Amino acid sequence: MNQQFLKEIEMGSKNALMKKRIITHYIYNGSSTIPDLSKELDFSIPTVTKFIGEMCEEGYINDYGKLETSGGRHPNLYGLNPESGYFIGVDIKRFSVNIGLINFKGDMVELKMNIPYQFENSIEGLNELCELILNFIDKLTINKEKILNINVNVSGRVNPESGYSFSQFNFEERPLADVLTERLEHKVTIDNDTRAMTYGEYMKGCVKGEKNILFINISWGLGIGIIIDGKVYNGKSGFSGEFGHISTYDNEIICHCGKKGCLETEASGSAMHRIFMERIKNGENSILAHRANEKNLPITLEELVAAANREDLLCIEIVEEIGQKLGKQIAGLINIFNPDMVIIGGTLSLTEEYITQPIKTAVRKYSLNLVNKDSVITSSKLKEKAGIVGACMIARSRMFES
Ligand SMILES: [Zn+2]
Repeated sequence: MNQQFLKEIEMGSKNALMKKRIITHYIYNGSSTIPDLSKELDFSIPTVTKFIGEMCEEGYINDYGKLETSGGRHPNLYGLNPESGYFIGVDIKRFSVNIGLINFKGDMVELKMNIPYQFENSIEGLNELCELILNFIDKLTINKEKILNINVNVSGRVNPESGYSFSQFNFEERPLADVLTERLEHKVTIDNDTRAMTYGEYMKGCVKGEKNILFINISWGLGIGIIIDGKVYNGKSGFSGEFGHISTYDNEIICHCGKKGCLETEASGSAMHRIFMERIKNGENSILAHRANEKNLPITLEELVAAANREDLLCIEIVEEIGQKLGKQIAGLINIFNPDMVIIGGTLSLTEEYITQPIKTAVRKYSLNLVNKDSVITSSKLKEKAGIVGACMIARSRMFES
């Protein structure tokens, strides 16, 4: 696929739009025969035959040979040529960046995890991010013309439709997506990081046909992703899912949103960090106690999670308390949404049972019995890859929506 075809789609050329429909159908339904395709898309067999012929020649579609059927005619099976188009995903963390490349079929072809990067909400931070992405593209051996879209996950308030980011990298009048498109010389879309994780888990993780999903992202902050009837729910401006900023506590802790008493101040990665430091200061011990005094190298959330997994009692206790607090609030979400599945994701979910058990106990205690019986509570299957897989899958879905 090339930029010319994308331009034709944008201009609304009838032929290009028909081809886009065929490609979209193949992306979400897999290979099929011409008779099946004509039925699905409601076009005559000669029309579909003509388009498939052209698209085979152009290299978008492959002829996968005769389909084995019981007796009668054996129609040929056609499907996407995985190498005719590629998509890039970018997932920004506090201390690193993950960048991945998928092919047309959604298989991860190239993945660079934990590229060193110190997130800073500054022009320099944005410049450095662009460098890293350009460097990744530069090293790819594929034809760069075939990169159809890049999606960047950004945390905070993001409007995926308009391309504006309101919390991070918001330095110009125009949308961040436009700024990045210019800098990276490829089409760029942006989306909220939690929503991307949710979509990644939905497409490639633990979801197996369930259509109503809540994804709880417990990382430095706290957010949720919502899927209703198989569609990601954005809200009017893309600001849905701000679970962490529900006013829950009568405390004096200022949240990074500027208000106080937010759920996030007591139940999130940043809360875990604060509570850990306070308890060490009050004389409690931990295998990480020596690190608490190293001012130049602050303890990361990953270290706290690793300590819990190495059976550090203080870290386990804090994780459990956070799980109880969260579970009580998730019980409320379950009452409202009646989801098929609640996925516990984000950095703190890497403590597995230490966080999921108290969440499950609190949900049983505080949600309506009949309602919570419907919902499976499970931990993320993609774990730290949820964001990057989601970024890549969104890069594709934004071009070829189901
Ligand atoms: Zn807040």
